[in-house]
Amino acid sequence: MKQSYSIFSLVRNALNYHQDWQEAWRSPDPKPAYDVVIIGGGGHGLATAYYLAKEHGITNVAVLEKGWLGGGNTGRNTTVVRSNYLWDESAHLYEFSLKLWESLSQDLNYNVMFSQRGLVSLAHSQHEMQALRRRVYAIQLNGIDSEFLTPAQLKEWCPILHVAPDTRYPIVGASLQRRGGVARHDAVAWGFARAADARGVDIIQNCEVTGLKVENGRVTGVETTRGFVGARKVAIAVAGHSSVICAMAGFRLPISSHVLQALVSEPIKPVLHTVITSGLVHVYVSQSDKGELVLGAGIDTYNSYSQMGSPPIVENMLNALTELFPIFSRLRFLRQWGGIVDTCPDASPIIGKTPVENLFVNCGWGTGGFKATPGSGFVYAHTIATGTPHPLAAPFALERFHIGYLIDEHGASGVAH
Ligand SMILES: Cc1cc2nc3c(=O)[nH]c(=O)nc-3n(C[C@H](O)[C@H](O)[C@H](O)COP(=O)(O)OP(=O)(O)OC[C@H]3O[C@@H](n4cnc5c(N)ncnc54)[C@H](O)[C@@H]3O)c2cc1C
Repeated sequence: MKQSYSIFSLVRNALNYHQDWQEAWRSPDPKPAYDVVIIGGGGHGLATAYYLAKEHGITNVAVLEKGWLGGGNTGRNTTVVRSNYLWDESAHLYEFSLKLWESLSQDLNYNVMFSQRGLVSLAHSQHEMQALRRRVYAIQLNGIDSEFLTPAQLKEWCPILHVAPDTRYPIVGASLQRRGGVARHDAVAWGFARAADARGVDIIQNCEVTGLKVENGRVTGVETTRGFVGARKVAIAVAGHSSVICAMAGFRLPISSHVLQALVSEPIKPVLHTVITSGLVHVYVSQSDKGELVLGAGIDTYNSYSQMGSPPIVENMLNALTELFPIFSRLRFLRQWGGIVDTCPDASPIIGKTPVENLFVNCGWGTGGFKATPGSGFVYAHTIATGTPHPLAAPFALERFHIGYLIDEHGASGVAH
């Protein structure tokens, strides 16, 4: 449903309090049955619905969301997008996604505010520098942009960063992915929702899936707070709640759910034009278009569904920030929140079939799935539509935990979102 926006329509709508503002997507009641039901209205579920419709002509699709669109990790993340992963399988998948990001606003006809401002990963010791070298060379071998920065080049790239050698954790070098950056997270959910709706997908909010109907080893529908909805295929995209949904189908996932926290400062003038991450002092930071500093760190190590998190993580994060940027030491912080991330033992996602026929799963993106949103949706849609894993998704099948072909990306996902 496209709407032509001109300056006049904006003024008219502002003056009439947006009374006749056209909704970006419909709010239909669930139909009795669909070809595909997607559980979870985050970025991954919505992108999957969009690519099912666009790439495969499957439009009899419902996205069922228990709350509001993007109210899970999609609207809680710190929006870093990059493709600097170590192993070939991950590098290809995330690079495919990054290429989709580069034309996503045009494709969706919706500005997702993708800003390729560069992503810097700091090294504070020779040991870290060696690990960084290995990663940069591996990334370059996959044809993906990645380069080294000396402390002097780093100072030039980001003058407010404290690179003096007399600090507790001196910076000895860094890597830079210039095509990395940030995007507006809500806009990604809204853009995919609007574009999927325009192709006929039903997006149904406030509709929680409470059970899965499995007959003779095959899924036939979902029980929801708005009644039973039949489905030829069911696709799970619920991030931190993946284990809960799969338990409804009678199998376990190698997933543990943890809180990942983020916080933002009061808005200030533009001072930080790039994304800086440090795995050692344990913080990463960028500046939003509103002027707020956006900060994150590692997960709270205990399991939880609480979306809150504990104060020590926040304290460490702020200590780390002021170690790297003394200029921020008197800044006030406005808001803190948490999201439930779904982490796999090898810090890589699961995309593919499940032991139940016609039931598919997409999860395990942990602390880093926002950047994968378009790529994940694309390969998941292919897997659902054709019943065969997309070549980029094949290495990430659930079977890898049986055959032992793990893709260990802990180094890439530690703190460098
Ligand atoms: C604080 C934080 C910072 C992060 N920073 C980054 C970052 O900088 N870069 C990056 O790449 N990634 C980051 N991530 C990770 C990223 O946010 C996630 O991997 C990604 O957004 C997952 O998207 P999703 O669509 O799978 O999940 P979600 O957006 O969580 O969507 C899942 C949806 O499923 C719904 N749902 C759950 N159970 C049910 C049910 N029973 N019935 C119906 N609906 C249900 C939920 O309400 C939710 O809306 C961060 C995460 C957090 C929490």
